[in-house]
Amino acid sequence: MADTDLASQIKAALVDVEIPGGADLAGYAGLSEIIVTPGAVAFAISVAPGMEAAFGPARDAAKAVAERLGGARKVMVSLTAEKTNTPKFSHGKATPPGKTRVPGIKRIIAVGSGKGGVGKSTTSVNLALSLASEGLKVGILDADLYGPSVPKLLGLEGRPAMRDDGIFTPHEAFGLKVISIGSMLVPGQAVVWRGPMATSALRQLLRETAWGDLDALVIDLPPGTGDIHIALFQQTIVEGVVIVSTPQDLALIDAQKAVDMLRRMSVPVLGLVENMSYFIAPDTGNRYDIFGSGGAERAAGRLDIPFLGAIPLVMSIRENSDAGVPPVAAMPEGAEAQAYRLIARRLISSVP
Ligand code: ADP
Repeated sequence: MADTDLASQIKAALVDVEIPGGADLAGYAGLSEIIVTPGAVAFAISVAPGMEAAFGPARDAAKAVAERLGGARKVMVSLTAEKTNTPKFSHGKATPPGKTRVPGIKRIIAVGSGKGGVGKSTTSVNLALSLASEGLKVGILDADLYGPSVPKLLGLEGRPAMRDDGIFTPHEAFGLKVISIGSMLVPGQAVVWRGPMATSALRQLLRETAWGDLDALVIDLPPGTGDIHIALFQQTIVEGVVIVSTPQDLALIDAQKAVDMLRRMSVPVLGLVENMSYFIAPDTGNRYDIFGSGGAERAAGRLDIPFLGAIPLVMSIRENSDAGVPPVAAMPEGAEAQAYRLIARRLISSVP
């Protein structure tokens, strides 16, 4: 059965699960999307603070329904109470809760780009490692559902483990805690995850992962602007966004569009990173400013955002990345690693 069919079937069967007050769970506004993967079924029931115990039997009954219909899939039903906002119900829809922090995570730094292929994921991973090398406890959440590449960049395979209470245990790589939306995708079906399913997957990865205490969580956003960005920025307090761009892209309006959206959503732009900025010849080590120099800094000035630094276009970045050993970990003293670490230090000094 297709995953979407199974989700609808489970939802329909939740009509038989009674919630406090006598209504049924299928029509309850606090029921999340039902996420179905080849190995798991997951959904959440959000309730008003203090109502957790009252909803316990409904949660158990819902879990039993999903287990009966889900075959061998592992079923996870979480019961969450919003601390700051009581769900309000009008016209059968839940009002989105206000922005909250993720417990245990001091600050979230998102990494975005105007378009794909500019090196956003490579930058996210090496930035996270550079922050860790400054002594911070760091995690990385790969939210790029159109091309989740963080696990590959860190040499990780397989899905993260899930505890009995349905909480993910993140992978660990090079000292980073790592979770990827890719592990929840069915290969070749990424498009199906657009919209509400993707946003509830993001919420689950963010809030139902045993991150422990983190000084910083780096989130690798999808390119452009879409549902994931809106959901994240509406629900979660984010320190700000680092925008990655190539010199060519800078001349275009893609980066500008990303900055505009962030401003509209009152999300701080922490700065611009220029990737593939200049070329270092592998044989001579000579630097070539093939796109001219200083363009990114001027563009950052035009956009009125800080310029965080430039990363060269070097073969070793692509080679190490492809091999699952990011340059910052492979050659911590190399010029590439230094470029990433300089950006991390500038970021630390601009984010309290
Ligand atoms: P995005 O996340 O923006 O789609 P990726 O981080 O996946 O981009 O990078 C796209 C490709 O470019 C990858 O093959 C990556 O190894 C390569 N790449 C990224 N940054 C650099 C760089 N500074 N020098 C050389 N290759 C790079």
